[in-house]
Amino acid sequence: MTITYIGLGSNLGDSRQILREAVQKLAMLGAVQVSKLYQSPPMGPQDQPHYLNAVVRLETDLTALALLDQLQYFEQESGRVRLRRWGERTLDLDLLLYGQENIQNERLSVPHVGLLERDFVVIPLLDLDVNMQVKTQQLKDLSVIQHPTVLLLDDESWANI
Ligand code: ATP
Ligand code: MG
Ligand code: MG
Repeated sequence: MTITYIGLGSNLGDSRQILREAVQKLAMLGAVQVSKLYQSPPMGPQDQPHYLNAVVRLETDLTALALLDQLQYFEQESGRVRLRRWGERTLDLDLLLYGQENIQNERLSVPHVGLLERDFVVIPLLDLDVNMQVKTQQLKDLSVIQHPTVLLLDDESWANI
């Protein structure tokens, strides 16, 4: 059993419902806990709607690559189409952490590359574990969360699990 953390984002369609359905699908892969729900400004192209973001803690027996296959399948099921880099999407599921492992291959980079620079990832991770460390970095000490760009929308009850 491995403790994993998955970043969820959506800025097309009924994002709240899409994220809720994603949590239900993740719950088929193992035990889940959810963070609070946040709204954040887009990264990259600014002419796109704001995002809804959350993080799920998943305990699973899947290997990292098998989990990525599932995440990409769930993205496809939501109707995700690739329009442009960091562009609008119905659902983005990023594998943030897979146990304590460092993984570098053509399909996976774990811990996820943007993790420590993105407040919309760090803040929900802290909801799930206030003492979380990535490598030797205490997430609660990161400067990126001193002046957050995210807005809290809802507590953990948003996902109805
Ligand atoms: P970013 O990764 O900067 O958040 P993005 O989520 O928009 O950008 P995607 O289009 O969702 O990027 O994914 C592009 C590729 O990233 C995927 O084909 C996947 O193989 C690769 N990838 C590498 N590491 C990871 C990871 N930790 N989680 C999910 N995908 C990853
Ligand atoms: Mg992403
Ligand atoms: Mg992605």
